[in-house]
Amino acid sequence: MYDLIIRDGVVVDPVQRALRRSDVAVSGGLICAIGDLAGHEARATRSAQGLYVTPGLIDLHTHIYRGGSFWGIDPTRIAWRSGVTTWVDAGSAGAHTIDNLAAQTAGHDLTIHALLHIAAQGLVGRTGESADLANLDVDAFAEAVSRHPSLVRGVKVRIDPSTVGTNHLLPLDRALTAGRATGLPVMVHIGAGSIPVAETLDKLRPGDIVTHCAGPAVQGFGSDPVLTTAIRRAYENGVVFDIGHGAGGFLFSAAEGYLSQGLVPQVISSDLHQLSIHGPVFDLPTVMSKLLAIGMDLVDVVTAATVAPARALGIPGGTIEVGKPADLALFRVETTPEPLGDVYGEVRPSTQRLYNESTYRAGRLLPPCWPDPPPATLPLSSEQERALGELDAAARALLTRSLVHPSHVRNQIPRP
Ligand SMILES: [Zn+2]
Repeated sequence: MYDLIIRDGVVVDPVQRALRRSDVAVSGGLICAIGDLAGHEARATRSAQGLYVTPGLIDLHTHIYRGGSFWGIDPTRIAWRSGVTTWVDAGSAGAHTIDNLAAQTAGHDLTIHALLHIAAQGLVGRTGESADLANLDVDAFAEAVSRHPSLVRGVKVRIDPSTVGTNHLLPLDRALTAGRATGLPVMVHIGAGSIPVAETLDKLRPGDIVTHCAGPAVQGFGSDPVLTTAIRRAYENGVVFDIGHGAGGFLFSAAEGYLSQGLVPQVISSDLHQLSIHGPVFDLPTVMSKLLAIGMDLVDVVTAATVAPARALGIPGGTIEVGKPADLALFRVETTPEPLGDVYGEVRPSTQRLYNESTYRAGRLLPPCWPDPPPATLPLSSEQERALGELDAAARALLTRSLVHPSHVRNQIPRP
């Protein structure tokens, strides 16, 4: 007798790179069996007919340090409806602020890891964190990693003119020194501006990660021979290319440039934060749908949001295997075209639009959780304001109705 059987779904296996119709059985929070389980019984059954069953998604680039960063959001409010069971905070905390992020996330329902920012104050503010090199203290970084070895899985640094001031690539050099000192990969954010992306990429080691890889910083990809050669060289050297969509890091045209050159981004992440959650990101399945829309294959897209980020950080998860935690996501795929937009508002019609139907963390179905309202200081469009108002009204209409007809109420205190 299993705790749960998810029946008749199409299991997406990113390790075997295969799709197969299968049942999945869960007990004690672990996957116990995969295959034809007709005739087996469980305390609960979930039909996944017509749905894809994927490993719980791993989002390599998010910002979930609420109260400690300009960017932070609460992952609990999004995980249940997006399939993301492992969240990687990408540099919201630095050596001076990681203890509080560790306290905030200890014992969390979701699996949480962090990339520690090379700037010790982390992303407290919107930008400028690496303008003063005194904040980029490798010894303090290594000491913080030693305090939180399971939480911290990499180094974060942002390279763009507003972040580094006049320091050019020196913050990246510090991050690489910190990476060598701690044995951790470096994730470098590339932004548009005066710092050549080719110079940035040439410094990276195999296993280091470039995020916003299809953002405005690489708009010259294909036409600029220096940039194009540097991207290809980094890719062939084993640098990991991560989408990191965010509010300013994803252009369809740039992503299409990669695919037309035969370079498939290895990782698809959301860069979900206060400025991207109300669009254009919304959630990781929406970002995955954008890569599907420009021609990536479904198995490649699932791989890029499961086992690929797990391997990039050397963390478990991202697979559907007997004996492993039952982190699972069920997705419906809609093929009616819907508009999907990038950070400049360029639109492509969806081909396979992923919608999450259920998310399980260690075998437990994550319950619905209402989204946080946007911060009062965040400017939104009138359409965004109206949609948020409609959402609230719909919830009120649902929850203020009596749940069932009075004759369908179970009498809890029997008449004497
Ligand atoms: Zn970010």
